[in-house]
Amino acid sequence: MNKHLEELIELSKIDRAIDAFEPKIEAARAKLSALEAKETAVAEEIENLKEEIKEAELKKAKNDLHIQELTEKLEANKKKMADAKTEKEIKALQLEEDIAKEQLDFANEEIARLDNLIETRKGEIEAKEAELAELKEQSEALKAEVEAELAEIEKEKQALFEKKQALVSKMSQKILAFYDKIRRWARNTAVVPVRKQACMGCFMKINDKTYAEVIKGEEITTCPHCGRILYMEPQSEEAATE
Ligand SMILES: [Zn+2]
Repeated sequence: MNKHLEELIELSKIDRAIDAFEPKIEAARAKLSALEAKETAVAEEIENLKEEIKEAELKKAKNDLHIQELTEKLEANKKKMADAKTEKEIKALQLEEDIAKEQLDFANEEIARLDNLIETRKGEIEAKEAELAELKEQSEALKAEVEAELAEIEKEKQALFEKKQALVSKMSQKILAFYDKIRRWARNTAVVPVRKQACMGCFMKINDKTYAEVIKGEEITTCPHCGRILYMEPQSEEAATE
């Protein structure tokens, strides 16, 4: 086989292997960011629950103040009642007392309701905080795992870069420029095998003349349809990748 063609096949395999790392890197990072997003969501829920408690406490304080006012009013009313002269006056004071007592009941009920709400929210916060702690623990473990995975990928990638460097340094500049030009649009399918007389880049059948050239492998042959560089792979390899 033509030496340049052999080198091109090798180079395209290395390039493909280097690019194959990208989805692996992305997948590793995606795992981590999914967990981090979950953490943020739980932390936000906790903040919201705390905010609800704060609001409930404020409402409670308002009701406390109201109760104080009503109690004072009832005290004052009692004195007025003792001094009341007419039936009409007494009736009016009684009505006021009834209203004040009703409001007092309502304020007390409201405080009980708010206390209940605060207790419930506190329980929810506790559960969420436990969940968050667990997520953080998972995140730490995963981070270490992902970092190790990325370091391993980086190592493998580096080895491939070195291999590529060694290969490229002995290749013809003209051939490399030709390869790069095809690679710009064909990406990892710049150099493709021919199977069943079809280009494995565009999957179109090639004519007999081109096919014969590819089989001979004495020159660099390109697909008449798409322009990719073609080669015949050894039988064993064809079987293995099919
Ligand atoms: Zn083609």
